[in-house]
Formats: sequence, structure tokens, C-alpha cells
Amino acid sequence: MKCPHCQVEIHENFFSLPIRPPNSNIGYVGKHDGDFAYWVVEGMACPACGEAILKLRRGLGALFGSEKEYLVYPKKATRANAPKEVPQLIANDFNESCLVLEDSPKASAALSRRCLQATLRDKGYKQHDLVKAIQAAIDSNQLPTSVSENLDAVRNIGNFAAHPLKDTLSASIEAVEPHEAEWNLDVLEELFDFFYVQPERSKQKRASLDAKLATMGKPPMQ
Ligand SMILES: [Zn+2]
Repeated sequence: MKCPHCQVEIHENFFSLPIRPPNSNIGYVGKHDGDFAYWVVEGMACPACGEAILKLRRGLGALFGSEKEYLVYPKKATRANAPKEVPQLIANDFNESCLVLEDSPKASAALSRRCLQATLRDKGYKQHDLVKAIQAAIDSNQLPTSVSENLDAVRNIGNFAAHPLKDTLSASIEAVEPHEAEWNLDVLEELFDFFYVQPERSKQKRASLDAKLATMGKPPMQ
């Protein structure tokens, strides 16, 4: 499985909690989907990031295997967290937007809109209005064509013409269109890659090339 905190692939090694008598089981608690089920809480620490992962397992009896499992902590995001190269405040909004996506697409879209605006502002598109910031980013011709077109679609999917962006949270939540939440996150992933991940990768490549050149007694690349 992938650790729901850090997304690193880890070997599952869950144990029952707590480790003390009589046992760690919750046991039978009424019916579940019409059947009597036996519940066990299990947990493990991720070997990569050290964070706790807890799950609730349903079986037909104490000794029977797992029928169904529910991840209870952390509440699993449907997408990977923002890459580590992304500034913390922007990453926080993105991660939270992913986390609430399933339960509340409206809340998710409100967060991802804010995240889009913060990302564009961080890259010099400081227009107060998200629609204008998107236009400025497109007009700058700095973005790869596909990213630019997908960013443009944010405005259409969000139907910003029909619902001008409002400053209050409740107004911006009410105006969310279907599919907007998913789309905003897709576009943010592309922007993160273009603005933060790729430049960092190129920087590291150049640094390692310069190191090689230095060992050969040659000057660094410009
Ligand atoms: Zn982890």
C-alpha cells in the first residue's frame, strides 16, 4: 500500500490496538449491512514518515480474516499531496482541497480557486481577480500551450462569467459548478509541475553538471 500521509510505497504491517489484555477487539456491535460483524482496530507507523495509520477491520468473528477494511486515520486524500517544491501555504490549500473533495466538492473548489490565485500571484500575476490573473498568465505566453489551455478552461468550467467571483466565502462556495473541483486540482498539478518541480529539477541537473566540469578543471555553465 501507499502511505496515506507521504505516498511512499510501504509494506503493510498492521497490528491490533491496544496491546493489552483482554484483547484489542471492539467485538460485536450490532449489525452492519444486516450481518453481525466483529470489529478490530489495527494500526501501524509508516516506516518512511513515522506517522500513524489506523484502520478498522470487519470480520465475521474474532478468528476470521478481514472482510472489509476502512481507513480511519488519516482520512485518505484521493490525490497525492502537493510536491515538496511547492511553497508551504500554497501546498496547504491544495492538500486540504484534495482532502475534502469527496465530502464537499464546493468547499474543495473554493479552496482550489484560492490556491490557483495564490500560485499565480506567487509567479507575478498579482491581479486581484482570479479571472484577470488567469488572463494575464495566458497573455504572457510563458506557459506551455496545453497548460495554458487547461488554465483557460478553469474560467469556463467555473462559469465565472455567470457567477463573478465574490469576496465572501459563502458566495464563492455557492457559485461552484459541477466538475469544477476536480478540474481545478488537475490544473493546479500541472502548474505545480511547470512552476516549481521542473525548475528545481533543472537547477539540480545544472549543479551536478557544474560539479563534473569543476573536477575536469573547466568553468561552470552560464
Ligand atoms: Zn508515510
